Amino acid sequence: MKTKILTFLLLLSATTFLTAQTASENPYANNYIYWGYPTEYKAGQATAAFTVIDTMLQTYRPGKEIPLPRELALVSLDQLLHDTDNDGTDPFYAFINKRMLRVLEDLDRPVKKGLRIYKLYNDGFIIKSSKATVAIDMIPGGSDSKPFINDSIIFGIVGKCDALFISHFHPDHANLRVAKAFAANGKRVIAPKDLWVGVDSMIQPLAEHVETDIEFEDLDLTLHVLPGHQDNVYNNINVVEFHGVGTVAQTGDQWYCCDLDWIANVYKRYDIDVLMPNCWIHDMEEHIRGFAPKMLITGHENELGEHSIDHREAYWITMKKMEAMPNLNIPNVLMTWGEWYEYER
Ligand SMILES: [Zn+2]
Ligand SMILES: [Zn+2]
Repeated sequence: MKTKILTFLLLLSATTFLTAQTASENPYANNYIYWGYPTEYKAGQATAAFTVIDTMLQTYRPGKEIPLPRELALVSLDQLLHDTDNDGTDPFYAFINKRMLRVLEDLDRPVKKGLRIYKLYNDGFIIKSSKATVAIDMIPGGSDSKPFINDSIIFGIVGKCDALFISHFHPDHANLRVAKAFAANGKRVIAPKDLWVGVDSMIQPLAEHVETDIEFEDLDLTLHVLPGHQDNVYNNINVVEFHGVGTVAQTGDQWYCCDLDWIANVYKRYDIDVLMPNCWIHDMEEHIRGFAPKMLITGHENELGEHSIDHREAYWITMKKMEAMPNLNIPNVLMTWGEWYEYER
């Protein structure tokens, strides 16, 4: 009997402890006293950190050099995003949506010269010229039932884009809801071979996984798809040539040794201005030399997907990789979600 009472008391206290973790029950929350409420404490701390990081990134904007305050903001972001306690929490959603809302609003600002390149969640980019706005690997993140980026924001952004290019089928790059929204707006989606076949006439997977040129006369650009791979997965390397303005290349999840044979010579055929490589690509330096771009914008840092935290990839790791290539002399404009950079030839 004694044991039963003890078990009951233990269960009762466990239940009390668990329910005490909800934010509304801390009687001292308004005074910032969190004693006995560690989960609420961490949420408060994350909100404070995300807020100051956002402010610091807005103050120290992306550039070819990274000033110390900006570096601290990026490394602090790595810490927050590698702490799984913050996954799926309100402070995280507030942070990413605030930043993506800025992109939605800024897309109304015309580009007069050159290209404006926006960095989105994971490996997504939007490149805007005076005549075209194209998205590559744009996704809302999270799950379809609970995406990281609110539908009103992501579909608002879709409405301001003219085309979508997909590198490969992995869900951190390809999202059918987004692709269908482009198609519904009468915008073309170029996908790798075998992805979304027969879904919509505006969603156009390549017929073969070979080098393919696709003209967009109304947008004054040509898409050159190079047939890369992530292991045995077809991975389109999208080289977008904005006529007379600039050429950008996004590598998707390129990871295949033998492609380096031809990637080593890409520079002989294309004059690449900006290369957007996946930050964890193997042989980073060899790939960069193959494309010979004027500058880099790495992507894919802090993917909050299925991987354990050691493969989320951090901004500080990208910085270390770049420091390890002192002879390369090609700047990396390191950006996080919801930032942009104006490129001019
Ligand atoms: Zn992938
Ligand atoms: Zn990926």
